[in-house]
Amino acid sequence: MSIVAFIEREANHVKSASREAACCASQLAKKKGTRAIGLAVGTFDDGALQSLADTGLEQIYHVSDERLNGSSASRLAAVVHELMNQEDSEILVMVQSALSNVMGGRLAVKQKAAFISNVVECPELTDTLECKRSVYSGKAFSVVSANTSKIILALRKNAVTLQTESKNLEIVPFSVPDISGVRGAEVLSREKAEGGVLLSDAEIVVSGGRGLKGPENWGIIEQLARSLHAATACSKPVSDMDWRPHHEHVGQTGVKISPSLYIAVGISGAIQHLAGVNASKVIVVINKDPEAPFFKEADYGVVGDAFEVVPRLTAAVEALKSKV
Ligand SMILES: Cc1cc2nc3c(=O)[nH]c(=O)nc-3n(C[C@H](O)[C@H](O)[C@H](O)COP(=O)(O)OP(=O)(O)OC[C@H]3O[C@@H](n4cnc5c(N)ncnc54)[C@H](O)[C@@H]3O)c2cc1C
Repeated sequence: MSIVAFIEREANHVKSASREAACCASQLAKKKGTRAIGLAVGTFDDGALQSLADTGLEQIYHVSDERLNGSSASRLAAVVHELMNQEDSEILVMVQSALSNVMGGRLAVKQKAAFISNVVECPELTDTLECKRSVYSGKAFSVVSANTSKIILALRKNAVTLQTESKNLEIVPFSVPDISGVRGAEVLSREKAEGGVLLSDAEIVVSGGRGLKGPENWGIIEQLARSLHAATACSKPVSDMDWRPHHEHVGQTGVKISPSLYIAVGISGAIQHLAGVNASKVIVVINKDPEAPFFKEADYGVVGDAFEVVPRLTAAVEALKSKV
């Protein structure tokens, strides 16, 4: 019996949010008195899997077949299914991602398991497993439990407080039976969106709205983002007007993010915008209108003109960086 964390790969590295899946699996295993293991599929750089030794995992099964690097969700689901059967696992923990959205449902059918997505906290273990989920585009939470013996969880980024617990982590090769017959699309190539930090993975996001007046003013957003090693984002009207690319639009109809820090500049805080960003750990709002609704959701607010405040903030960050 064990609890499995699925370790997602990103360009031969461990996807940063997978550390949370590993920690959550370890915390649940401790409460259940069982062991936590990981499953990693595809090619990883030397030491990449070992970097999870402080998450409390005891073993990572590694399917090192490079042909599985761009595999479809169906094939990866077949691999996870195999390991869960071998390990008699009751719980699988994944991170919420484009992959897990598709893979979770397929696995749930194979394993006769419940698939609980959008989980915002490592679940409480009472008689059942109680999971807090984000629902209605982030406007509410619900607590659910499954009536199945097996459960598949998908955790939103920043759902788990990372705790370090070093174990002597063993990386064990895992071979799967031939899955070439499993139908599904293969990823032949990937082209990353241009720019610095990827929005979905960013710990810090600097976002601009219509208050920036035009695309020619985006330099102040980009400079602050570069100083903080942050990703840039925007409100919907901004991308609708082609000031910024559509993949940067956050909100109900855009990307949903939950970074550690979200800095909103010249954004009013409409409910549709908040739906995509209100799971951020800390929200900072910069707006010249003290009545802007976003201030009600903010942890910190600056009432002021973005064109004065943002360059001063960037200068302050640079000054702090030069001291360390
Ligand atoms: C079905 C539906 C779905 C939607 N989905 C989304 C979505 O996913 N994401 C999204 O963002 N929106 C979405 N919207 C649109 C949403 O309702 C708002 O219209 C939008 O978020 C407003 O964008 P904004 O805050 O950039 O612009 P505005 O509402 O125009 O706000 C601009 C803000 O900038 C401030 N400002 C102006 N000048 C300055 C300055 N010099 N310095 C500082 N502050 C300044 C103003 O005080 C104001 O608060 C959706 C709407 C609908 C109907």
